[in-house]
Amino acid sequence: MPDRDSPYVIPDVLPGPVVENEEIQETIVVDPKVGDRVVLGTTIQTVTVDPVTGGRRFVSTTIRHRSDDQRFIDPSAELYSCACGKRLLTKHSVKFCAHCQDPVCFEHARVANDGKTIVDVCQRHYWSTFPLYLTLRFGRWLKKI
Ligand SMILES: [Zn+2]
Ligand SMILES: [Zn+2]
Repeated sequence: MPDRDSPYVIPDVLPGPVVENEEIQETIVVDPKVGDRVVLGTTIQTVTVDPVTGGRRFVSTTIRHRSDDQRFIDPSAELYSCACGKRLLTKHSVKFCAHCQDPVCFEHARVANDGKTIVDVCQRHYWSTFPLYLTLRFGRWLKKI
């Protein structure tokens, strides 16, 4: 019968590595209107110790998320939201309304054309300025006749 307290006897089941330290860093965006929190990126650093050899292992894991326009989110880059509900948009998929400068996704951006200038606008300003642009275009058309 082996002596279980002897330091020279190898135990039947070796204990696994023990986590000595774990540090988690998260980048979070808080929606100003509803207060929702969205995690943009996570970094987890773990230090484990092998109880048999005493060796330490350092593991760093970075988790990156995708935006609503399917791009990787850089936690330090600016992100935009659209009134339609898309909250994580990069600069590649938004336009800015010529009237209010609100970001609008390409799907919901409208073009206001008075026959002289063409500008991108949000849906709210498209419908509020539509009669004006229509009147201006009609006036230009009348002058050509
Ligand atoms: Zn939209
Ligand atoms: Zn607008």
